[in-house]
Amino acid sequence: MNQTINVDQLNSALTSLRTLRSSVSHVFETLSNGLRADHGEDGKDKFLSELQELLNNVNINVRDLEQTVNSLPIPTAPFNLGNTTFLSQDTTQDRQALYTQLVNSYKWTDKIHEYSSFAYTLLNQNSLKRSNINSATKRRGKMQSNHNVAPLQVDNVINNIGRSYNDMKITISRPFASNAVVQINLSHVLKAVVAFKGLLMEWVMVKGYGETLDLWTESRHNVFRKVTENAHAAMLHFYSPMIPELAVRSFMTWLHSYVNLFSDPCKRCGCHLHHTSMLPPAWRDFRSLEPFHDECKQ
Ligand SMILES: [Zn+2]
Repeated sequence: MNQTINVDQLNSALTSLRTLRSSVSHVFETLSNGLRADHGEDGKDKFLSELQELLNNVNINVRDLEQTVNSLPIPTAPFNLGNTTFLSQDTTQDRQALYTQLVNSYKWTDKIHEYSSFAYTLLNQNSLKRSNINSATKRRGKMQSNHNVAPLQVDNVINNIGRSYNDMKITISRPFASNAVVQINLSHVLKAVVAFKGLLMEWVMVKGYGETLDLWTESRHNVFRKVTENAHAAMLHFYSPMIPELAVRSFMTWLHSYVNLFSDPCKRCGCHLHHTSMLPPAWRDFRSLEPFHDECKQ
């Protein structure tokens, strides 16, 4: 290490730091004592001018400290213990204790140096980004792999789910190149279309059994517009980029529970039609799959 530390400079910097601290504590001391007897008649003015003088002193001392610190060289590398290592070989007990302290403070300086250089690199890279670069790229990598699942694998997953229901028919088409669009016919109750990207669900539209189905036109019936809205909530709720199969399966199970849309009453109020909206229970609990009116869910 070709870094030389001027001990005199360091010493004078420490001295001016000490002077500054003492003048600051003097300010607080005077302030906490408040008006004193020796301030006399017009005590308030005297007190204020005394305080001002003390603050001026603080200002001068800050300037002094700044000057002395600016003249100090900036350390470029961790400090070297140098000859102080020989302290450990000293036979006197109390000097050996000194050595342990020295090593500890050396470790601290070393750590601070290491951490601050890490922080410096990270902050430099991430000046405008809130999240850590590494985790962001990792997450993106994972998502991409789920977007790029082979069509055959997507077909297998969806067909497997379809086979487990007798009253829910699932058909896959690919009108937009490789990404699947899945049509679901649930008994004689409703139809739904789900757009996939790889194995991730991207869009849902629910319509009545008699309506024509496409991705973008809403149902003309209030109740199916409500179910579409809730299906979007479900899609987001079950969203799981790490285990996309599970998300699709959970969503289909949830959607299947609408088979009783027009037959089962609301779990909360016990009615088929809600007394104000006059709609059947268009909400299904994500866990229990129990039917509720939108107005009755908690
Ligand atoms: Zn209800």
